Amino acid sequence: MNYSIRLFKVMGIPIELHITFILFLIIIIGLSVINKNIFWAILFILLFVSVVLHELGHSYVAKKYGVKIEKILLLPIGGVAMMDKIPREGELKIGLAGPIVSFIIGISLLIISQFFDINIGGYPLIYTVGLLNLMLGSFNLIPAFPMDGGRVLRAILSKKYGYLKSTKIAANIGKSLALAMLIFGLLSMNIILILVSLFVYFGAEQESRMVEVETIFKNIRAKDIMTPNPVCVDPNMSIEEFLNFMLKHKYFGYPVVENGKLIGCIGISNIHSKEGTVRDYMEKPVIVDENTDITDILKKMVYADRVFVVDENNKLKGIISKTDILRAMNILELKEELEH
Ligand SMILES: [Zn+2]
Repeated sequence: MNYSIRLFKVMGIPIELHITFILFLIIIIGLSVINKNIFWAILFILLFVSVVLHELGHSYVAKKYGVKIEKILLLPIGGVAMMDKIPREGELKIGLAGPIVSFIIGISLLIISQFFDINIGGYPLIYTVGLLNLMLGSFNLIPAFPMDGGRVLRAILSKKYGYLKSTKIAANIGKSLALAMLIFGLLSMNIILILVSLFVYFGAEQESRMVEVETIFKNIRAKDIMTPNPVCVDPNMSIEEFLNFMLKHKYFGYPVVENGKLIGCIGISNIHSKEGTVRDYMEKPVIVDENTDITDILKKMVYADRVFVVDENNKLKGIISKTDILRAMNILELKEELEH
């Protein structure tokens, strides 16, 4: 799904407008026409140009670190430069570059406006755009995710606390700030503040989740987190026997093994009557090999409660359940924290 329109390219980077941005623009222009004052429409467009320049600031420095920039996407609440992985050593400079651009533009325009300004409908355009750029720079320097200040804070903290913990600190500041903004927004009935608070909250949440999974699951394979030698079931076991078997072992799902090979899997949800044998109810197992990467396992687990690890001869090596993933995640997280 792509709800955006491509405008043009700057420094080889496509600039795209999101559909919500276009709707917002239409509303602003509509209101300007109704109020017979085009100041707000012009201001909005210049604000959009300012945001693009801000994002180009990030992109310019990012490119020097070899980061590929897919596009700059504009949303009503701001712009995002979509980059592939930002190198950790470049994060501080890349994060600062955007606000620095905004400050330079803001200060320059404020100085110019002291000598010369364009008045539209009684408002000074250059002065206002200058002020907005200063606000854009300052807002982005708030030390919380997903603002630039969050990245800067993480870059500074990570020297001492490690990347994961620093991300969590910056994300938690972001979330607390978002909640404060939300309460303030609701009390003052300020829709923009409410929208920004939601953007900040979910941005912080997303960043911290992504980094968490990426950091602690780096280079983890099936063999590292599987439970080896799982309890198996014979396909000829009757369902009555199987129910007692489940009661004894207390797992919800089991591999079905015949002549040393995995032929199916069966769990509590497969059984609808007490007639027949395991073979009648078992289903096709989701399999991976010992070297399957954790990200591929997680993709497979969207549709299955557990995956089975087999060798090239379909011999069962282990089992990975959602509980295994959660436990591994907690242990790896502790390990990563203690290493810093
Ligand atoms: Zn920025």
